[in-house]
Amino acid sequence: MGTRNPDRVPISYRRRKCETVGDMIHQGWDVHSRCMACGTLFRVNLRIIAKLKGAGFSIWNRKDRCRRLGCIGHVEFHGRAPDMSWHEVLSTPEH
Ligand SMILES: [Zn+2]
Repeated sequence: MGTRNPDRVPISYRRRKCETVGDMIHQGWDVHSRCMACGTLFRVNLRIIAKLKGAGFSIWNRKDRCRRLGCIGHVEFHGRAPDMSWHEVLSTPEH
């Protein structure tokens, strides 16, 4: 616990070095997703995504359907690199 680092790295800068799930696994990111409708939190297993979609798959700016039964909402992905204090939405304004 402590004060926020004033010159912390913006998430859009991190994306440049961490575009794919392969990069995220390599750099030790922890990722979960949260439904914007029902608020359910899902653990995201990057290794399973890499196995299913390939290591070059990207989850930036991606919204998936909520997996909770009966929910028609969408989840957004939140990620945390080992040197980050908390998860941030994996979304950047560019492309
Ligand atoms: Zn939901």
